[in-house]
Amino acid sequence: MPIPPGDLAEILGVISQRFGGARLCPVCEKANLSLNDAGFVTVQVVDRPLQFFAGRGYPCVSMVCVNCGNTVLLNLYNLGLSALVERLREPIPATEPPTDG
Ligand SMILES: [Zn+2]
Repeated sequence: MPIPPGDLAEILGVISQRFGGARLCPVCEKANLSLNDAGFVTVQVVDRPLQFFAGRGYPCVSMVCVNCGNTVLLNLYNLGLSALVERLREPIPATEPPTDG
């Protein structure tokens, strides 16, 4: 599910405020980092390798270099977007099945 447009604008606003207009890729050093608006990434932190479904998750957005494919993750809490995280924590409402009447 893509990031909702209003949330995307908020995230882009913070990123622009913190990094300015040119977002240089740390690998190829070209200004080609682009926010992946397809969705969020959760980085799971565990105390043992290959330990799944335990530990803590950090909500992130990913930025992908369109030149070399390098992908960087930005933690939404560190960007000061904890209110956005909490707002999106709510489950997506289930779609009501169509009724006959
Ligand atoms: Zn690059």
